[in-house]
Amino acid sequence: MKCPFCGHTEDRVVDSRVGRDGEFIRRRRACLKCNRRYTTYEYIEDVLPHVVKRDGRREPFDRQKLRGSILKSCEKRSVGVQAVDDVVADIEAKLHDRAEKEITSLELGEIVMEHLQKLDQVAYVRFASVYRQFKDISQFMDEVKHLIKDDKPAKAPPAKPKATAKR
Ligand SMILES: [Zn+2]
Repeated sequence: MKCPFCGHTEDRVVDSRVGRDGEFIRRRRACLKCNRRYTTYEYIEDVLPHVVKRDGRREPFDRQKLRGSILKSCEKRSVGVQAVDDVVADIEAKLHDRAEKEITSLELGEIVMEHLQKLDQVAYVRFASVYRQFKDISQFMDEVKHLIKDDKPAKAPPAKPKATAKR
């Protein structure tokens, strides 16, 4: 802890007290250099950030909701539930690393898309179309084109049968 008086980074704890209902611990510290005393508070950090929605409302990060939307994007794709759970865990780990108290739903969407892109391209496009709220079909097609470009040797989709002649 950096001393507020001299900036030295070593101190010793001279007193620790649990505050109120155990919500925090207060520590008296003495700077090892200038010997002045100061107080620090230790709280449990909210583990995951709140999500700030487009309209400004905030809600706690909801892993089930995230999992649900990813599962939905993966519907009828050959993506196992375990793979989806792994992605959810990766995203959570990323949020932990980010260590911010808030994340906008757009930023969260970008993180999810990053992961889905590696997982399954169709799931990615499905998710992106909801999250990015594509303004029109051309924006959507641009995204799909990027995908095709980024994709390794793109497998050609099975040719659609030509319109059958009238009987
Ligand atoms: Zn000091």
